[in-house]
Amino acid sequence: MSGAPRILVVEDEEALAILLRYNLEAEGYQVDHVARGDEADLRLREQVPDLLVLDWMLPALSGIEICRRVRSRAETMRLPIIMLTARGEEAERIRGLSLGADDYVVKPFSVPELVARVHALLRRAKPEHVAHQLSIGDIALDRMTKRVRRAERELHLGPTEFRLLEFLMKSPGRVFTREHLLDNVWGQDVYVDERTVDVHVGRLRKVLNRRGQQDPIRTVRGAGYSFDETFGR
Ligand code: CA
Repeated sequence: MSGAPRILVVEDEEALAILLRYNLEAEGYQVDHVARGDEADLRLREQVPDLLVLDWMLPALSGIEICRRVRSRAETMRLPIIMLTARGEEAERIRGLSLGADDYVVKPFSVPELVARVHALLRRAKPEHVAHQLSIGDIALDRMTKRVRRAERELHLGPTEFRLLEFLMKSPGRVFTREHLLDNVWGQDVYVDERTVDVHVGRLRKVLNRRGQQDPIRTVRGAGYSFDETFGR
């Protein structure tokens, strides 16, 4: 399920959080949940989800402050946000939208309505979830057929190398730590050593650059790996 969009739900009402998680998981999303504002802030620095469902009134740090921080950081600047607000918070809602929430629903809301908004926002904000082809320079990756070509020559990658390349190609220029790659490519419940990442990056490079071509993957010392944003320019 590593290809399923990840949703972070920030909600301190436990019953509502459970309901949201259940329904969003039933739609095939990967759902992560935190109940406090400061936890949400930390979580967002560790891992950027594909969409954020954010309650307004939260312990420790308000939804509005989280929204402001999310929009001010390059990594999360375009993260789609749906705010959950209580009735009668009109002024807050306007402030939230002006601070960059993409959509909001007023409590109590119907879960199918929220799910429909999640679908719509992801479609709008994350076209790569529907785009089958990722192309950079002479490398083309097809997410449907799982084929990778370089300069019209088909490459044979193992499943992990394929997911690794797909993940890096989705965010050219962004540097990912080994830990982040493990969580996103291998999955959070898999316990493997961080050196495993180096091994698979090595295998991926070997296939990609077999003919002595330019290496599209950058090793950033002390940080991790990225897909070179200047590749193919
Ligand atoms: Ca609340």
